[in-house]
Amino acid sequence: MTAERLVVIGGDAAGMSAASQARRLRGPDELSIVAFERGHFTSYSACGIPYWVGGDVAERDDLIARTPKEHRARDIDLRMRTEVTEIDVAGRRVRALDRETGETYWTGFDKLVIATGARPVRPALPGMDAPGVHGVQTLDDGQALLESLDRVAPGPRRAVVVGAGYIGVEMAEAMLKHGFEVTVLNRGEQPMATLDPDMGRLVHDAMDGLGITTVNRAEVTAIRTGPDGRVRAVAAGDTSYPADVVVLGIGVEPETTLARAVGLPLGPHGGLLTDLSMRVVGHDNIYAGGDCVEVLDLVAGRTRHIALGTHANKHGQVIGANVGGGYGTFPGVVGTAVSKVCDLEIARTGLREKDARAVGLRFVTATIESTGRAGYYPGAQPMTVKMLAEYRTGRLLGVQIVGREGAAKRVDIAAVALTAGMTVDQMTALDLGYAPPFSPVWDPVLVAARKAVTALRRAGTA
Ligand SMILES: Cc1cc2nc3c(=O)[nH]c(=O)nc-3n(C[C@H](O)[C@H](O)[C@H](O)COP(=O)(O)OP(=O)(O)OC[C@H]3O[C@@H](n4cnc5c(N)ncnc54)[C@H](O)[C@@H]3O)c2cc1C
Repeated sequence: MTAERLVVIGGDAAGMSAASQARRLRGPDELSIVAFERGHFTSYSACGIPYWVGGDVAERDDLIARTPKEHRARDIDLRMRTEVTEIDVAGRRVRALDRETGETYWTGFDKLVIATGARPVRPALPGMDAPGVHGVQTLDDGQALLESLDRVAPGPRRAVVVGAGYIGVEMAEAMLKHGFEVTVLNRGEQPMATLDPDMGRLVHDAMDGLGITTVNRAEVTAIRTGPDGRVRAVAAGDTSYPADVVVLGIGVEPETTLARAVGLPLGPHGGLLTDLSMRVVGHDNIYAGGDCVEVLDLVAGRTRHIALGTHANKHGQVIGANVGGGYGTFPGVVGTAVSKVCDLEIARTGLREKDARAVGLRFVTATIESTGRAGYYPGAQPMTVKMLAEYRTGRLLGVQIVGREGAAKRVDIAAVALTAGMTVDQMTALDLGYAPPFSPVWDPVLVAARKAVTALRRAGTA
């Protein structure tokens, strides 16, 4: 019996999880696995880049979960520095370009996994490619940024971070740790556009308190360079912000160039569309996962593009199970995400006000102030919880939390409640753990649920 061949495009979270899981289920006699990765690394945590650059994680290699050598030891034919440049869907083959030798060749497949990730948004502005301007998408990017920081002369050193999403705020912290004066230029109304603006305002105020200047509604128009060609400032409208280094955190879009070229189905956000088993819609032998796909938002009932490692790893597991002869499905997401800037923790799950309006949901909101520990317990820190509940049914629609220690992971309570389709009234009776070092006797999430029930009653729906 000749082994089936699985070809994987992309050697990070989704691609190598899929390959590894398939290999666990089927040995090399039954399934040969060829994986193509155009970069220098496999199975690395981009999520850890801000903490490596900031010095919390000592070594770049600490972020690598599995090296090419380790994958090869598991009978995965991994071809590094090799880019897939074309998919021949009907002929069941891909064309590969070896970036070291320039050689191109075709490789056939029985099953194909597209796990090409996302590419950072990089507007075509003057000076964007100047030395000192850095993205933070890959380990190579992180290395280049660290080397660039070393080249900045001593004295007052200024960093401008463009973008105030989670990567922007995490990189602002990293730059602060290197002793830079940090300015964050934010196109939106408030930092962290994944929150409602009232909650984003809390992040803005806290960043001010940490010594990070945040400029809202700042549309970057150019990067200004000095006579040596290196970055000197960032222009946003009429204002010029001095910069010795610029970090870009403007967001990403699905990397679906190959898929688009051969007409594979893409959703409204440019990501590949899959069924529950992560098969590309209409193609039984092609799977896709990670940042290159759109996911079903279980609360809104629409697909969204959410580039998160937590989803990419799960997609990879599901794909690996299915191509390995097992069974797995990925039902969708509720939109949970956590991040931090210094000691400020930021969390969200479910819908923001504008998301709920966009899908025609009527809702009430409740916002409460509490603390992460019993008020009398040493170190108790404030925490703000905002909750959205559906008008009439009382179903939980979303939660946002901004606070200090213990704020971020509290959102997981809400993620579970959302997944279970709970009402805010049902949430008030949740048997959550309590002792003074961990929470007040009424956990902040429960206090918010109680207030949401009151809001529903006032609205005449409960
Ligand atoms: C700074 C930063 C912080 C982050 N923090 C978090 C976090 O805290 N929590 C979280 O959940 N997520 C976080 N993420 C997101 C997370 O890293 C990604 O969602 C995850 O890496 C996606 O995995 P993936 O396999 O889909 O794509 P990628 O990791 O992008 O991997 C795709 C791979 O495919 C390769 N490739 C692409 N095209 C080709 C081709 N044609 N041929 C061969 N190879 C190709 C690329 O070189 C790449 O290695 C962060 C990301 C960044 C950049």
